Amino acid sequence: MQIQSKLPNVGTTIFSIMSKMAMEHNAINLSQGFPDFPLSPELIDGVHHYMKTGMNQYAPMPGVPILRQRIGDKLNRAYGISVDMDTEITVTSGAIEAINSAMTTIINVGDEVIIMDPAYDAYEPIINVNGGKAIAVPLTQPDYAIDWEGVRAKITDHTRMILINSPHNPSGAIISADDLKQLEDITRDTEILVLSDEVYEHIVFDGMPHQSVLRSPELRKRSIVTYSFGKTFHATGWRIGYMIAPPALMAEIRKVHQYNTFTVHTPTQYAIADHLKDPDNYESIAGMYQQKRDYFLEQMKGSRFTPVKAKGTYFQLMNYSQISDMPDTEIAEWLTKEHGVASIPMSIFYQDKQDNKVLRFCFAKGEETLKAAAEILCKI
Ligand code: GLN
Repeated sequence: MQIQSKLPNVGTTIFSIMSKMAMEHNAINLSQGFPDFPLSPELIDGVHHYMKTGMNQYAPMPGVPILRQRIGDKLNRAYGISVDMDTEITVTSGAIEAINSAMTTIINVGDEVIIMDPAYDAYEPIINVNGGKAIAVPLTQPDYAIDWEGVRAKITDHTRMILINSPHNPSGAIISADDLKQLEDITRDTEILVLSDEVYEHIVFDGMPHQSVLRSPELRKRSIVTYSFGKTFHATGWRIGYMIAPPALMAEIRKVHQYNTFTVHTPTQYAIADHLKDPDNYESIAGMYQQKRDYFLEQMKGSRFTPVKAKGTYFQLMNYSQISDMPDTEIAEWLTKEHGVASIPMSIFYQDKQDNKVLRFCFAKGEETLKAAAEILCKI
């Protein structure tokens, strides 16, 4: 039987490849982004509690009401906005399901979606599977800032959506209030929608605020915004997140979501609703991760890697051009197999796979792990 691939140029994600390689070679795994420390025992007890008390059947399609209510409270606290839990919030199977359901709802064959380059690896395949086309606009160097003139230049009659991601994976860059203004100006009086992937909203460093598109009433009217409890509560395997969109748009997205995953794991939703009651459970993570970033950078002092200090996320970029001119995919493999530290080659995030001799390291790890990895890297 012949299968006509919808994604002929896509293989297994680099995250699965590098994590597998790390495991097989017993390497310290700073590749795929996930924390190696435990999550809150109360949160785990909460899931257990709700399983034992019988919350084990289908949740309502948009998410259990108490969780949507607490998400609303959290958004109000963080961004000073009032969001309607019945029409504007949907709980999803991780942010990636939200992105998938939203794109499937919106993108028609021939539509163009402007993405920033480099970009998280999932965006372009999801656009392509829906018959759309990803139009990449390079982020500027050395700060990985958005080139708004570049975005303007790429807008055509087919532009359906602009996709932004702040804090940005893989660069660790964040957007400013001025970026939001630029996005307002570009989209004003157009039919262009915005997809804002904000899964690292609580991991922003050095006292900077997270500039959610939800802060702008104008952008809010045309935006779908995605979030992740996996990132915020150190539980990436739980696959639970949520999205925010204006009512008319959300009504359409829910039509897709309901036939995509229908609902999300019920007891986990109740446990997270309880956990959201204490804002410290999410507001404290910026400080915790900033310490890890600073610790990792401190340990890497004296190495021949050159960092681009992360402003957010739990990823740190390191340029290795003083060490080697090997392609980044090869050096990532060599470091894993021969030296025992796994990372992600940055080229995979570029549409043209350009190689700037940069690796991405995940620092969501205990200090012992970061120290051991840095010791190895400092000798290279
Ligand atoms: N978001 C994670 C990262 O950037 C990877 C998630 C995955 O493996 N699909 O490392």
